[in-house]
Amino acid sequence: MKRLGVAGWPVRHSRSPAMQNAALAELGLTDWHYQLLPLPPDLFAQTIRALPELGFVGVNVTVPHKHAALALAADASPAARAIGAANTLTFEGGQIRADNTDAPGLIDALGVDARGLTAQVLGAGGSARAAVWALARAGAAEVYVWNRTPSRATELAAALGASAVHEPRPADVLVNCTSVGLGATPDAGHPSKGTRQLAEMGLSLGVLGSYRHVIDLVYSDPPTELTSAARQLAIHTVDGIDVLAAQGAHSLALWTGREPPLALMRRAARGNS
Ligand code: NAP
Repeated sequence: MKRLGVAGWPVRHSRSPAMQNAALAELGLTDWHYQLLPLPPDLFAQTIRALPELGFVGVNVTVPHKHAALALAADASPAARAIGAANTLTFEGGQIRADNTDAPGLIDALGVDARGLTAQVLGAGGSARAAVWALARAGAAEVYVWNRTPSRATELAAALGASAVHEPRPADVLVNCTSVGLGATPDAGHPSKGTRQLAEMGLSLGVLGSYRHVIDLVYSDPPTELTSAARQLAIHTVDGIDVLAAQGAHSLALWTGREPPLALMRRAARGNS
């Protein structure tokens, strides 16, 4: 049995096992299995080092381990190094290699050529670093960073050649990399008109209407206020499941060398396989 998994803390709500196991089955990789790996921070390094002995080919890494994952690796891709975080580890010949597939996954999920576009990224955590790096690398003309704690936006923008802003600016692309909407339900009775979560990320419906493409990394059922409101405004909207499937497809390709069944992965992550 070849094993894969997702290491996080907490991780029980991850949709990656359903998505990746559906993909493995579709590819006929019946001797592969993808599982949850709930790992508290103090057990992360020693447990990850033990996994190759147990038949693991690689793992995805999620909150709060992405920095630790990079630190553990003997070798890292340019994306993982520049972003300072890894979401994919591959075990090869006794070595650990780190990659960051959040970055190419975001660009794939955007689905349009980012060259020359302006982008407003909300948040200054790990996923915001990946988004800013990915957009700049894909040729975005200007990337603005807004964060609830402004000093973190300033720091991130300086490190990655973006511009920190005190309030979200109109742009072609909006990317929500804050945790707003995670585990919350939109305002009762007005799922498409709620503005509480929008306000937490510095947005009004008026400003939201200025974007042509909205990517919301957060996913929930029912959809987040941002996703609902953007769809209501007929903006091209990419939700967190689309991004999850796109980054997962890149990880699967790294581990198996096979062409990932992306549409099936999206359906499986939505619980519709
Ligand atoms: P992180 O490093 O913990 O950063 C969290 C960010 O959210 C920070 O910028 C924080 O601002 C901001 N924030 C938290 N609560 C807030 C609030 N109430 N109002 C305004 N800002 C708030 O997390 P991350 O790894 O970047 O992930 C961010 C989100 O993206 C998470 O929900 C995660 O699940 C999601 N994500 C999804 C995918 C996917 O594939 N769909 C991939 C990666 C991440 P401060 O600096 O002010 O604290």
